[in-house]
Amino acid sequence: MTCQEHGVLSRDVSTGRTDNDSWDITTSVGSTALFVAASRALEARKPEPLAVDRYAETFCRMAGDQWVDAIDGTDPEHPLRTEFGRHFVNFQAARTKYFDEYFHRAAAAGVRQVVVLAAGLDSRAYRLPWPDGTVVYELDQPKVLEFKRDAMKRLGETPAAERREVAIDLREDWPQALRAKGFDPSEPSAWIAEGLLIYLPAPAQDRLFAGIDGLAAPGSFVAVEEASPMPHDAFEAKRAEAAASPEENEFFTLVYNEQHAPAEQWFSARGWVAATTPLHEYLGQVGRPVPGPDTEAGLMTGTISLVSATKR
Ligand code: SAM
Repeated sequence: MTCQEHGVLSRDVSTGRTDNDSWDITTSVGSTALFVAASRALEARKPEPLAVDRYAETFCRMAGDQWVDAIDGTDPEHPLRTEFGRHFVNFQAARTKYFDEYFHRAAAAGVRQVVVLAAGLDSRAYRLPWPDGTVVYELDQPKVLEFKRDAMKRLGETPAAERREVAIDLREDWPQALRAKGFDPSEPSAWIAEGLLIYLPAPAQDRLFAGIDGLAAPGSFVAVEEASPMPHDAFEAKRAEAAASPEENEFFTLVYNEQHAPAEQWFSARGWVAATTPLHEYLGQVGRPVPGPDTEAGLMTGTISLVSATKR
């Protein structure tokens, strides 16, 4: 049994993570929501974007500081302005397109309950054309949801579906919290875990998948972004570098280099029909360059896959 299962607080000083850590939008894991929003903002400015998130730039401006530098280019050394960053923006664009199209398919199939796990600054409740009667549940830590709610209020924006916040940590009993907000497990649902699994230790990933499976009626959809763990020594070296220098991207101090089970394997074993698309294959399909295998970007994106499944 792990410390998590015992509910005992464990802290690994090299990661900066604890079993029950919390954050707001500009700190720790919360700031990763701004990092991917800044990527979407940069994509939206391209002449031929793969996806346009019209809110992403505003979120960054409201957050200020380095997030404005990232999108205005005032700090040429910002990680999103480097060679790595250019590939990272393509990666985010591709994944936004992949998951947007997934939701179009789920809605077309008649699904009217949508669950966005680790919603962060995901603006799909506002920007996708949801059919009447759709309810979008957004789960994330309370302060992250609060930032987006306040931002949308200041912009005077209203969601395109009924949006219900579930302010909770996904290492806690989120299925119960979701049901308490009105989620109906007897009706089909469409789930997304985008940019989430790497921030959860393996036992919490397993509980997340089990929670989805337990609440998903036949006809439900799930889509997941997953990463296979890096070689242990390479990962530890990256983490030590990041922990030693405030100049380094803190990413490696925030993630768990763990994978409970590949999503296709896990869901297929429980009656779902699943398909995995390696990110590199998808980048090629959507006409974006694939970073070389020995580059910093290639090392990261080469581990990533996009998975979607439907429950029979
Ligand atoms: N899914 C969004 C997107 O793709 O734009 C946000 C992705 S962001 C990289 C990671 C998000 O996961 C953050 O919003 C963070 O708060 C959330 N997150 C990570 N671990 C979490 C946990 N244990 N409980 C709740 N939210 C979590």
